[in-house]
Amino acid sequence: MIPVRTYAAYIAHGDGRARLRAQLRDRLRDGALRVLALTRSPTRTSGWIRFPYYHHVFDDERSGFARQLDWMRNVGEFLALDDAVALLQSGQPIPGRFFCLTFDDGFKNVLSNAAPILDRFGVKATVYVASAYVGLDPLRDRERLLGFYDHRQLLLEFLDWTDCRAWIAAGHAVGSHTHTHARLAALDEAGVSVELAGSKTAIEGETGRPCQHFCAPFGRPGIDYRSERDPDLARLAGYRSFASGRRGPMTAGGPVYDLSRDHLLANWGNHQLRYFLGD
Ligand SMILES: [Zn+2]
Repeated sequence: MIPVRTYAAYIAHGDGRARLRAQLRDRLRDGALRVLALTRSPTRTSGWIRFPYYHHVFDDERSGFARQLDWMRNVGEFLALDDAVALLQSGQPIPGRFFCLTFDDGFKNVLSNAAPILDRFGVKATVYVASAYVGLDPLRDRERLLGFYDHRQLLLEFLDWTDCRAWIAAGHAVGSHTHTHARLAALDEAGVSVELAGSKTAIEGETGRPCQHFCAPFGRPGIDYRSERDPDLARLAGYRSFASGRRGPMTAGGPVYDLSRDHLLANWGNHQLRYFLGD
């Protein structure tokens, strides 16, 4: 088994019928979104920060990713996560339309494929790594890598610490996505604290930079993490922000320990951006 490097290989799993059903579902959904997108516009309002996030930019997603950044550049401006959090925390009006990009999980293609494109557009992004996966080797650590997803076996390459330092040297940031990619809601308070502190210590020790931002794996409030507990524990552990996977814009004074973000796939068309990032 060779590591997955393309989106085509990433989705080519399961039996043929399941794949066909998924393709049909995607096509119907895409048709509906094309119609719905006509009623939405990203430039109707101002005074917000959107947090688009990705997991991967595979080899066959590079041109889509560049197109999406170009689309965002025409709608607003890019902000680094530190600056976006500081602006929200200041309570000041948000002076325009802003995009703050993050990546979850810490896949290798964030450095190899996304970073050169981010650089071309002058975008500073944050990757949230699950520190126990950083530096795992596709040959030596094959079984652990295949266990990353509950529901399917895929061999994906993760960043190593040298990659993380290169990412930081290019002006980007590394945040925490727990140590083991844990579903926080399933852990007791002590277990959550271990995940929060363990990943922070590992990331800071290896990068020499403060790790200030946290993102909950799986991201659904009340299902994957406990809204009334986990953001507080992250704050106590020294994090300056807590990101979820719930969609929507953030407006002036919005809660930095409850950041809404918009999940994107780099091959989605502009009508999908218009639908998900418009209002
Ligand atoms: Zn994740």
